[in-house]
Amino acid sequence: MKIPGDFNPWMKPPVCGRCHDIGRLAANPDHRGSVVCPDCASRRDEMFREWRLKHSPMPAIEFTDLSNDERTIVEEWRSAGHHINECLRWIEGRRYDPAKDETFLAHARIEFKRWRFLKEQTK
Ligand SMILES: [Zn+2]
Repeated sequence: MKIPGDFNPWMKPPVCGRCHDIGRLAANPDHRGSVVCPDCASRRDEMFREWRLKHSPMPAIEFTDLSNDERTIVEEWRSAGHHINECLRWIEGRRYDPAKDETFLAHARIEFKRWRFLKEQTK
């Protein structure tokens, strides 16, 4: 049953629609014993990779924005079979510095003040 206000905004559909990512299915109607899911057992990693590529946001940078060191890394990964968007998202994450993110800092300062206030209340 769906409860109003219980909606999870980050919830994504399961990778395997048959077993809902558990990897096993009930063998009998009375749920005694289980069998390996035939849809995802043999290609589970590949299915998760395809799912991540489909549901992750597009990278904000392009290959032309990369430095020479980053281009070397991305070309190595590309030759190893990784998708270009996977590589660019990893580079984005590597570049991200929370100390320079004003939105994050404003939120962190509020949370710190709240924590300090609650700590002084419990003394
Ligand atoms: Zn499955």
